Amino acid sequence: MKLWNSNPKWPWAHDDDISKYIDVPDWWLVGYEEVRGFLRGLTKGRFSSVGKSAGGRDLTVVYYEPKSPQRTVCVAGGTHATETEGIASITNLMRVFEAGHDLRGQKWPAFQRVAKQVGFYLMPFYNPDATARLIVKSCVGMPIDVVNMLHVGFWKNRKMLNYKRVFGPWTPASDLSDRLDRMGYLGSRHNDAGCDINRPASGRKATAVETMQMRTYLKANSIDCYMDLHSHSSPPWLGMCPAEHMKGDHAQLAKLQQLTRKKTKQAGGPELVLAQQDDSRWFNGHFFPHNLGIYAFTYEAMAGFKGNYPDDKPWEEIWLANAYNGMYTILGLAQALLKVPSPWK
Ligand SMILES: [Zn+2]
Repeated sequence: MKLWNSNPKWPWAHDDDISKYIDVPDWWLVGYEEVRGFLRGLTKGRFSSVGKSAGGRDLTVVYYEPKSPQRTVCVAGGTHATETEGIASITNLMRVFEAGHDLRGQKWPAFQRVAKQVGFYLMPFYNPDATARLIVKSCVGMPIDVVNMLHVGFWKNRKMLNYKRVFGPWTPASDLSDRLDRMGYLGSRHNDAGCDINRPASGRKATAVETMQMRTYLKANSIDCYMDLHSHSSPPWLGMCPAEHMKGDHAQLAKLQQLTRKKTKQAGGPELVLAQQDDSRWFNGHFFPHNLGIYAFTYEAMAGFKGNYPDDKPWEEIWLANAYNGMYTILGLAQALLKVPSPWK
């Protein structure tokens, strides 16, 4: 049964059949309204809120709390709306904590073991404004030029935003707040106020209200580690900030990254590619370690765009690998977190 069917249409003239990007397996639970409904049915997690998005949507977090948490981790999906893989990992993990198995029925005993010591703050939508405007639920099989239109966004004259500006460091022109009336489609990176969700302007200031509120939330709850889940064209990848961007102990962050790779692999997950980003741009994964000294990572799944996998690979296998690789990485990170000191001590 599909709950979400408001007859989405391409926001530009396009003859590809949109239904193939909407008809996903039931367990690929990523649509904004469907997930909101799913959240209302949860009974074991504790609900809290980071605040409100620019568009007034609740920044909901569900916390699964052990009796005596030794470490805590916050995992956010949907920073970029087209990257629905992370949302699928989070909703399936919520189901594990609620019912003992994920939305496909698979059990994850290792998660239930580590959740006796690690508290999980799970946030399906970091950028709910962009997910609510997204017209598809998956980009598996989608040609990259179509992905780009939905991801980057375009002006009313159908020209895409300047690619270099979108992916480069923040400048005042990165935010579209003064040009919203010229947009044909606002894409997957900006909140409803037109602020780029993952480009803080500096180490101290982000124009996106979501990020400023998240900084307060992470501090108020003394959360040890933040990870946001993305996808693009690399094999599963785990990035951290450079030492120049970290107020806390960068050597421990590097150790945590190494340990996460090892534990993820041991758990049955992917061989993560480890990376350290440079200091030319601020990402949320740099902003929180810079302000709070906490650990943070960016995870990237290998998205299913056309060309990333062989054309004859069944889409079901791509969805499955992406939902599960994200879950294995969250599991590996939680296990590894117990081996490094809390940054708050
Ligand atoms: Zn992303």
